[in-house]
Amino acid sequence: MTVTVRVPAKVNVQLAVGPPRADGFHDLANVFLAVGLHDEVTATPADTFRLTCTGPDADAVPLDPTNLAARAADALAAHHGIATPGVHLHLAKDIPVAGGMAGGSADAAGALLACDTLWNLRTPHPDLLSLCADLGSDVPFSLLGGAALGRGRGELLTPLDVGGTFHWVFAVADGGLSTPAVYRECDRLRGTADVPEPQASPALLTALRKGDPHALAGALANDLQAAALSLRPSLADTLEAGKSAGALAGLVSGSGPTCAFLTEDAATAETVADALRRSGTCRTARPTTSPTPGATLL
Ligand code: ATP
Repeated sequence: MTVTVRVPAKVNVQLAVGPPRADGFHDLANVFLAVGLHDEVTATPADTFRLTCTGPDADAVPLDPTNLAARAADALAAHHGIATPGVHLHLAKDIPVAGGMAGGSADAAGALLACDTLWNLRTPHPDLLSLCADLGSDVPFSLLGGAALGRGRGELLTPLDVGGTFHWVFAVADGGLSTPAVYRECDRLRGTADVPEPQASPALLTALRKGDPHALAGALANDLQAAALSLRPSLADTLEAGKSAGALAGLVSGSGPTCAFLTEDAATAETVADALRRSGTCRTARPTTSPTPGATLL
């Protein structure tokens, strides 16, 4: 028996970052949208544990026990008080690695669901969500998909209504950015300035509910953008290239370096993607839509 799970990437249409907490994390108001770039996680019975990965960034993916998919399999087995059964996990990766699109989190959620199915454990959904939260702040959303507001460090989710399909282009950079390094740079740039409690923007939530791309474009906000630009100044050229090609708005996706461009319709997304590919400011550009379902058994 083989089980394959498809898991989406995310973009943060709002990422409001509070001051650093005592535990080193930051309180967030994090509005997630699942977007149509996917990884597939396949679980097959094996004599021992084995992890393999294919895809354009496969060389950058650790194949040791630190891989989030491996940690997810172990966490699931531990939750049920069993030794991790022998399993071959294969990651077919299409989500950029260290790209600010929660690729590792997607693999963790995918591995949890794939192993839960393969091992016939039938873990209740709330338990799966809590295992996800222990694995990483973005992992619960990878399981859930759609659209959601994340509070706490992003793991306390409230699903959100979305009244239509949004069209995006993702400009994939060469090389990644470390999420902890981007948060550190954000704190450094803020210095001693007072940082308000992070709040979800009512205008943004209304734009999502109405499915209105123009209103959403005006409300997009990422508190990590200045830090990502500080660490990777060339992203300013990418953002400019997408906007001058006709995007309604552009922003850094999460901690970057992927840049996300919201467009009016699918045809404009194709035009913007073509222009970005020709601009020389990114490795490639991917048109896609949102929202899309979370981890799904194929
Ligand atoms: P986020 O948007 O959640 O901050 P990201 O998309 O920027 O994350 P990931 O692709 O999740 O970043 O990878 C971050 C780091 O995690 C990688 O550089 C890699 O060392 C490690 N990692 C562990 N497991 C995985 C995995 N399954 N896929 C990719 N990277 C992984």
